[in-house]
Amino acid sequence: MKFETQAIHAGQDPDSATGAVMTPIYQTSTFAQQGVGRHRGYEYARTGNPTRTALEACLAALEGGAHGLAFASGMAATDTVLRLLAPGDHVVAGRDVYGGTYRLFERVLKGYGLEFSYVDTTQLSDVESALRPNTRLVWLETPSNPLLRISDLRAVADLVHRARPSAWLAVDNTFATPYLQRPLELGADLVIHSTTKYLGGHSDVVGGAVVVRSSELHERLAFLQNAVGAVPGPLDCFLVLRGLKTLAVRMDRHALNAAAVAEYLAAQSQVERVIYPFHASHPEQDLARRQMRSGGGMVSVTLRGGAAAAVRAVERTRVFTLAESLGGVESLIEIPAAMTHASTAGSPIEVEPGLIRLSVGLENVEDLIADLQQALQAE
Ligand SMILES: *Cc1c(COP(=O)(O)O)cnc(C)c1O
Repeated sequence: MKFETQAIHAGQDPDSATGAVMTPIYQTSTFAQQGVGRHRGYEYARTGNPTRTALEACLAALEGGAHGLAFASGMAATDTVLRLLAPGDHVVAGRDVYGGTYRLFERVLKGYGLEFSYVDTTQLSDVESALRPNTRLVWLETPSNPLLRISDLRAVADLVHRARPSAWLAVDNTFATPYLQRPLELGADLVIHSTTKYLGGHSDVVGGAVVVRSSELHERLAFLQNAVGAVPGPLDCFLVLRGLKTLAVRMDRHALNAAAVAEYLAAQSQVERVIYPFHASHPEQDLARRQMRSGGGMVSVTLRGGAAAAVRAVERTRVFTLAESLGGVESLIEIPAAMTHASTAGSPIEVEPGLIRLSVGLENVEDLIADLQQALQAE
C-alpha cells in the first residue's frame, strides 16, 4: 500500500473488542492475566501498551522498516539508541546536529566513556577520515539543523558499512519525515525521530521514535526501551498517530509555503542569504532533489544587518510566533544561536548569531509573506 494509505491504516485496524474506528487510548498501567504468565500480549504498560503498539507499527510502515519503537521524547529515543554502545566506543556525529543531541553527547554520554567526533557529513572524505577502529555509530541529520545541509545517505551508508562492518548509520529524520525521505531504503540502520515535530504536527505532544529493519537491533532496543523506561503514555501515542494520518497532505503544503517564503526572502534587499534545500542557491540542491520528495517546511535566513537585525525581525513578526520547536501547523520563527542551539555556544559547532530559522506552517502563504514583509520593513 502507498504512503498515505499506510499513514491512516497501518497498525490501526478497527479495535477488535468494540469496533472503534479510532485506536483507543488504553489508559491503563497493567493488564489482567488469564493464568500465571498467560496473557494476551500485554502485561505491564512500560513493556507494551496497545495504543503504543499501533503507533509503533504505523511508524515502521511509513519508514519502510520492520520495527518501530516509540519513546517519551526525541531525546529519550536518542539516549536509548546510544545505550547500544559500550564505554570506549566511538561515535562520528554531524557537525550541525540538533543542539540537544550535542548536549546529550558532550555533557552526559561522554562522562560514561563514549567518544564523539563532529564532522561535516556532507563531505564523504571527512566522514571517512573521522572513522576510528572503535567507531560503532555514525549519527547524522539531513537536512541538518539549522543550516539545512544535505548529506548523501546512500553514499555515507555504503562508506560506513564498507569501512566499519560492525558500525551502524543512524539518521535523525525529524526535518524530512518519511514522506520526504526514507533513510532505511538508502542503507541506514536506524531512523530516529522527534515525533514532537512534523509527525505529531500540531505542537501538542512531545515524543520520539526509532525505526529499524533488523530484528536483532529491534530486540536489543526493545530490551532497552523496557529496561530504561523512557516510554510515551497512551494519550501521547494517540496524538502522534492522529498526526500521522495527515502527514502527507501537511508536508505537501508545508513545502509549498516554505518554497514561496524562500523565494520571497531571496528577493529582498535586507536579506543576505536564504537557505532552503530546493532553492537554486543551495549548495546541495541536486542531491536534495534526488533524495527528497520536496524541500520540506524549514527555511533559514541571514540578514545584511546581522544579529541585531535578526533579533529585531523575529520580535516583530505577528503571524510567525517567536518560539522554539518546529513542524506544527502554525509558523514559528527563532534565532538558533540564542534559543534552540544555545548549548553549542563557544563550541566548534556554534551557530552564527544572526541566523534566523523559520518553521513555515500551514497558514495562507500570502499572510505569511505579508508578515515577513512588515517585520523586515524597518531594516
Ligand atoms: C526536537 C528535535 C530533537 C529532540 O526531540 P525532543 O522531542 O524535543 O526530545 C532531536 N532532533 C531534532 C532534529 C529535533 O528537531
